[in-house]
Amino acid sequence: MSLRLLAVFAHPDDESFGVGATLARYAAEGVELSLLTATRGDGGRFRGLAPGDPKHPGPDELARIREAELAAAASVLGIGHVVLLDYHDRQLDRVDPREMVTCIAGHLRRVRPHVVLTFGPDGVYGHPDHIAMAQFTAAAAVAAADPAFVFEAGQAPAAPHAVAKLYYTAWPESTWRAHETAFKRWTSTVDGVERHAMPWPDWAITTVIDARPFWPTALRAVACHESQFAAYARLQELPAGLHEALWGWQHYYRVFSTVNGGREKEHDLFAGLRTEGRG
Ligand SMILES: [Zn+2]
Repeated sequence: MSLRLLAVFAHPDDESFGVGATLARYAAEGVELSLLTATRGDGGRFRGLAPGDPKHPGPDELARIREAELAAAASVLGIGHVVLLDYHDRQLDRVDPREMVTCIAGHLRRVRPHVVLTFGPDGVYGHPDHIAMAQFTAAAAVAAADPAFVFEAGQAPAAPHAVAKLYYTAWPESTWRAHETAFKRWTSTVDGVERHAMPWPDWAITTVIDARPFWPTALRAVACHESQFAAYARLQELPAGLHEALWGWQHYYRVFSTVNGGREKEHDLFAGLRTEGRG
């Protein structure tokens, strides 16, 4: 039986920036990878230009550009199956939760992943879209497994599916420092309050993935999102050690697992699933 992993994120580029090296590693191991992305990135900047700038192509054209960039990045990372939901940027925390949970849960039942990855409750740097997707994805994992969960008529979802392991992305201090060094500080201002990334304490990290051989692949995937990374040329110049800290070691928080547990750090998202007859 092949192992399956589904990543659920908000925007095109979240998959490359956040977990690209992890995805590339598991693709190389033969894991079937799927990605669900909530928006087409229509509200973003274009090569540093804010929406509304005369040289910005506008939300519809930007969405088309970013959809193509996402397809290219997915192909670099070895993601076999990509679904874009066409919600709008910066509106995910105002989406009808029932609608989004039903949508993700239906997807979980069709894809039937063993492992699901999404953002942590901090949304990396407090981004409300990221936080919303973390909450929707956790709720959808519950709904997908529940035979009594009521889907809309006509959706005909597959049989219930229980995800074995759900993970949040989590930056320990080492990754956080690498980001602070490599990029200008990522912030979001919400209701007049500035939010920025905060490191997770090392003891709260449950899972450390050694994806060092795959950081160049992750970087190539990041580079596919050309419209978003005017600074990509500069990224190429960073020392290898910094790249390794940025994307080579990837850290997660195991939200739940029905197949393993305990205090010891894991080094494999599929730990507990590779036993005889399952792996
Ligand atoms: Zn994002």
